[in-house]
Amino acid sequence: MSNRIKPTCSSCELEDDLHLVTLLYDSSVSCGRILVYCFDCRTSKRNFDVSIPLEIVTEAIFEKLFDLGKSSSDKGAAHSIVFGRK
Ligand SMILES: [Zn+2]
Repeated sequence: MSNRIKPTCSSCELEDDLHLVTLLYDSSVSCGRILVYCFDCRTSKRNFDVSIPLEIVTEAIFEKLFDLGKSSSDKGAAHSIVFGRK
């Protein structure tokens, strides 16, 4: 765990108050790209669907997003964004 790179905001790289969000590919679908946003970026960008505090996001929830068709992001890349990199 010591060398783990923590998740940061996908837009501004802040580390505080992060949520997993799905940034919609298109306003007519509920499918989007999985990113991590801080409070300010969530406030300034509105074209996202899912918004879950990162502290409560588990592997099971992460998988469920794909099961529900909420994202077609590359799963490995999205996992690094959400859970950080080793
Ligand atoms: Zn941000």
